[in-house]
Amino acid sequence: MQEVKSPKKPLIFYYCIVLLLLMLFNALVTPRLVQRQVQEVDYGTFMSMTEKGEIGLVEVQEQENQIIFTDKAKENVYKTGMMPDPDLTERLYAAGAEFSGEIIEQASPLLSALLSWVLPIAVFIGLGQLLSRQMMKNMGGPNAMMFGKSNAKVYVKSSEGIQFADVAGEDEAKDNLREIVDYLHDPGKYQEIGASMPKGILLVGPPGTGKTMLAKAVAGESNVPFFSMSGSEFVEMFVGMGASKVRDLFKQAKEKAPCIVFIDEIDAIGKKRDSRMGGNDEREQTLNQLLTEMDGFEGNNGVVILAATNRPESLDPALTRPGRFDRRVPVELPDLKGREDILKVHAKKIKAAEDVDFEKIARMASGASGAELANIVNEAALRAVRDGRRFASQADFEESIEVVIAGYQKKNAILTDQEKWAVAYHEIGHALVAARQTHSAPVQKITIIPRTSGALGYTMQVEEGNHYLMTKTELENKIATLTGGRAAEEIRFGAVSTGAANDIEQATKLARAMVTRYGMSADFDMVALETVTDPYLGGDTSLACSPETQAEVDRQVVELVKKQHEKALDILRSDRDMLDKLAKVLYEKETITGEEFMAILNA
Ligand code: ADP
Ligand code: ZN
Repeated sequence: MQEVKSPKKPLIFYYCIVLLLLMLFNALVTPRLVQRQVQEVDYGTFMSMTEKGEIGLVEVQEQENQIIFTDKAKENVYKTGMMPDPDLTERLYAAGAEFSGEIIEQASPLLSALLSWVLPIAVFIGLGQLLSRQMMKNMGGPNAMMFGKSNAKVYVKSSEGIQFADVAGEDEAKDNLREIVDYLHDPGKYQEIGASMPKGILLVGPPGTGKTMLAKAVAGESNVPFFSMSGSEFVEMFVGMGASKVRDLFKQAKEKAPCIVFIDEIDAIGKKRDSRMGGNDEREQTLNQLLTEMDGFEGNNGVVILAATNRPESLDPALTRPGRFDRRVPVELPDLKGREDILKVHAKKIKAAEDVDFEKIARMASGASGAELANIVNEAALRAVRDGRRFASQADFEESIEVVIAGYQKKNAILTDQEKWAVAYHEIGHALVAARQTHSAPVQKITIIPRTSGALGYTMQVEEGNHYLMTKTELENKIATLTGGRAAEEIRFGAVSTGAANDIEQATKLARAMVTRYGMSADFDMVALETVTDPYLGGDTSLACSPETQAEVDRQVVELVKKQHEKALDILRSDRDMLDKLAKVLYEKETITGEEFMAILNA
């Protein structure tokens, strides 16, 4: 989102200004006031000053029963009590004193107090106001409680002309949203027949899959205003602010209807409310306000609310009730074709060589999101510029995949010779076990150049087309491949290292899923022992079985992995010469392609 925020100045900046002003004030104003402060003297002094003609200005204040006067230079102000003195006025005239009321006002104690106390305080308060106003702005919104009227712009009204054609792949999501576009084009058609549009639509999918883009495209296609705001922005420091922002957002939206309101990261406000004490009041108030607003308008007033989340299961059920966000549009990671399309869409914005094979790149970038693919294209262009070429080449794209997906190459990272050998054997172990099992994907690229992501080596496996279903044998082979790295180390060095931590984690996850979720263990048949609570972020699971069953599950998972580990060891032992040969090549070249690997294997 490109919300426009005023540049933040650190708080200290304002304190410095206040301090500076006070110092200036002290230096310039206060000394004069002090000088001008009235000194009380006795009548005798006044008399003798009069005699010597040292009086400048003089005022007789009969009511206060006092005489205020200055010296000839009019720099010091004095006062004295009045005495019965009939010819005083004459003597003062004779001494050349001027009669005036001015001095009194300028130098009155009240005024000096005013200047030395009230003014600085006023300045301070004024600046404080300014400061807090600035803070409000920085926090992205007005506070109804404090300033009454909102003046900060909290959302951007622009669809940037994005159309469905700009969003590659995601055909199902687009089909789903086309109805909304049609409705916004001609709400009358729907009103006539009495159909009302869903008020809220939830776009559900992992980060970077184009949810924001799709929402903008709906606005772009319908040619209506687009209001957007991120859920996290609603939840602010002060209680009541989020709710007032929601009110504000909907007020504006209703004025501009028909229009699209997009709330990104709705889970930030829409999380399940828990009954624990001291829950987040602010978030709850904001959520309640959102629910109230949604209930408050008819399905036909032309405001369509789209919201995005990658964790739909964490949303408060109140949000997904009928009449609220009751429609769900899945926005999934792109498949092979989708990845190719996304690459092509973004490649149009750069200069790519004509012979670039986008399908191959898409295959290599298995699992990448739209945002990552956009990043790969940009990275390829940057690489071409760095190397002084005018077009991004196939190699630029392939290198970029690794940069974006596997982290930057650390060419000068130091591996000891022994470590390098260990990594070479480990990676060849994975590749060889994969290649020797008919159902495993062929190896695309093997490298022992460390990445910043922390992986020491990296065996890139290419999926063959798309497949959603994996057989039990395929899964077992995958586990065997994962254990292949460790197996090779064991065979060559007779010792194990920490380099297999990630493999172990993945193998365990797979084996566990086979037992608990895929019904691939004969003992448990088709009973689901685990449910996935968070399918988009990491896939946390929760067990749904007795402790005894749990122990049995653990036993079976261990058995499964062990069996595949044994298989991997067998494969590598019977192919020891090949293992050594390939490891040596990898050690020397540091990176070998799948073709080179296969050429050696089949030689
Ligand atoms: P989300 O809102 O799902 O996190 P965004 O819509 O913000 O994802 O996508 C981020 C960027 O990724 C987009 O600006 C775009 O460049 C790229 N992108 C993501 N999905 C696609 C897609 N399907 N087609 C083209 N570009 C995409
Ligand atoms: Zn490994």
